[in-house]
Amino acid sequence: MDLHSGLPYWIVKNQLFNYHHPLKEACTVDVAIIGSGITGALVAHELCLAGISCAVFDKRTIATGSTGASTAQLQYEIDVPLSAMIDKVGESASVTAYHASLQSITDLEQVFESTGVHPNFKRVSSLFLASNQSGFRLLEREYEVRRRHNLPVSFLHADALLAAHRIEAPGALKNTAAAQMDSYSAATGLLKYHRKKSDLLLFSHTEIVSYQERKGGYELLTGEGIPISCKYVVVAAGFEAGQFLPKQVMDLISTYALISQPVQPSQLWPERSLIWETATPYFYMRTTSDNRMMVGGEDVPFRNPERRDRLLRWKIKRLERKFREVYPEIPFVVDMAWCGTFSSTKDGLPFIGPWPGKKRMHFALGYGGNGITFSMIAAQVIKNKLVGVKDEREKIFGFERLGR
Ligand SMILES: Cc1cc2nc3c(=O)[nH]c(=O)nc-3n(C[C@H](O)[C@H](O)[C@H](O)COP(=O)(O)OP(=O)(O)OC[C@H]3O[C@@H](n4cnc5c(N)ncnc54)[C@H](O)[C@@H]3O)c2cc1C
Repeated sequence: MDLHSGLPYWIVKNQLFNYHHPLKEACTVDVAIIGSGITGALVAHELCLAGISCAVFDKRTIATGSTGASTAQLQYEIDVPLSAMIDKVGESASVTAYHASLQSITDLEQVFESTGVHPNFKRVSSLFLASNQSGFRLLEREYEVRRRHNLPVSFLHADALLAAHRIEAPGALKNTAAAQMDSYSAATGLLKYHRKKSDLLLFSHTEIVSYQERKGGYELLTGEGIPISCKYVVVAAGFEAGQFLPKQVMDLISTYALISQPVQPSQLWPERSLIWETATPYFYMRTTSDNRMMVGGEDVPFRNPERRDRLLRWKIKRLERKFREVYPEIPFVVDMAWCGTFSSTKDGLPFIGPWPGKKRMHFALGYGGNGITFSMIAAQVIKNKLVGVKDEREKIFGFERLGR
């Protein structure tokens, strides 16, 4: 499956991590991580810090899956609003999931601070706009429940929103706990960091095509027929993880993004907030460190990559129009556009941990609009499991909930 097409800005802006290193001979490692995107990179980071020997395998050029196409907004809000999630999975699990998501933004920040990797991580405010009156009522419910559970949030009515953010909408929820980054640079930066410290093996262009459970671990087989012996496998294969799962757990979605030419910093919107809305599918926007505007959305159910790509021109026009509805006074000229694959789960939560009965195969599947914050959580939960530390998040994000 093509995970994206068109020109994802990050792969153009950053120098491509030009690393061609396929596995050529049989190898043995404690943990084999399948996937070198932001999830695999964060898992590798956590395991290396814990002194666990690991190797990352990717069938593509490093980090050129969804991670290269991501708009990389980091928000504690999950695609399913807290007030609605409570109805799906209960109050305690929902609140823990929201707080875990909030904490993961700080944890990501600390990962970059401690490694000296600079993926343009920046704290920004976030605005969740009411798209219409029913969206306004959702914001009222959301505000009340988030306040009750000590999540950072304030309510802006229409006049305050217009005065502070120049946006005409019925209202918005605001918080200052969000952030943005460049996930391609983050993933490649972390992998390079651990390569340099010589504690990580990294193999590109190495597809894992099958696996066999053995006493005390797994034997994986590459497309070239080369065996890899390991005690544990971590599947961080993004939306292609289905081949390792006994059953389908997510729906695939096609999504679209574009980036404008740079403008003068003074022409950008107040606070350079992350902006999104209550409508489904939602439209969202952010700025970049080089004063561009990145907008995305227009999601449709995934059918196949050809169909997704055929819609690109039409989707560009719709996203441009959406942007102009919010900020008609800001000059917006599209520079690049791309489409990608995304996925969602029924309760908006990721799948992290082993499939029941397969104790040594862990999944790190950060599905949904918060894929990257979920990747951080997955890396910690899996590390904790391997070193024997109890983690309350395991229960909430594990596959066991499918049977409930
Ligand atoms: C347009 C777009 C916008 C997005 N915006 C946001 C956002 O604002 N905020 C946010 O948090 N998330 C966002 N996401 C989601 C986020 O980008 C993803 O959740 C995240 O990048 C997934 O990272 P990953 O490492 O799990 O997957 P990937 O980056 O796809 O990496 C998986 C890797 O596994 C490799 N692989 C797969 N199968 C095999 C195999 N059998 N053998 C070897 N290698 C294999 C692939 O080649 C790939 O490189 C967005 C996604 C898209 C497409």
